[in-house]
Amino acid sequence: MLDYVLNANKDFTQKFEPKKMSFIPQKKLCIVTCMDTRLTGFLEDALGIGRGDAKIIKNAGNTNIDRDVVRSVAISIFLLEVEEVMVIGHTECGMANIKPEKLEKSMISLGISSDEIKKIDLKEWIGSIDNEESNVINVVEKIKNSPFIPDHIPIHGLIIDIENGALKVLVDSR
Ligand SMILES: [Zn+2]
Repeated sequence: MLDYVLNANKDFTQKFEPKKMSFIPQKKLCIVTCMDTRLTGFLEDALGIGRGDAKIIKNAGNTNIDRDVVRSVAISIFLLEVEEVMVIGHTECGMANIKPEKLEKSMISLGISSDEIKKIDLKEWIGSIDNEESNVINVVEKIKNSPFIPDHIPIHGLIIDIENGALKVLVDSR
């Protein structure tokens, strides 16, 4: 895969015309979303945002946000002029269907120590979610309730249909 990427990069840089851009998001927006591959090159178009417009924080299931996601949202607000946050889940999220037994088996088969696995609550550690919509609402609440997020910053919650790109608003903080 590295060869593929390096070849593609050669083609890209030959055609690409560099231009100076600010690292400040032009739409003053920070998005927290899932790492799902089907969102790549899709979510941005579905939201009408382009390169340079928004900070996009991704992880598996846009969940388990306590440490790193809140830190990144906070940096976006305090140092990068972000004025609005959107938590965007999607339909058919893989994190809603995690079977802890299957995960544990896979971890052990790839050399992870079962003693280490026993020390954690696997479902919690992996951030398995019960439902895509309720997860978005919970995550919005968690971000809102963080002592490091200013009260005046709107935190919206949305879900995108992974097939047709339609958005549904779950939490409207306007
Ligand atoms: Zn997902």
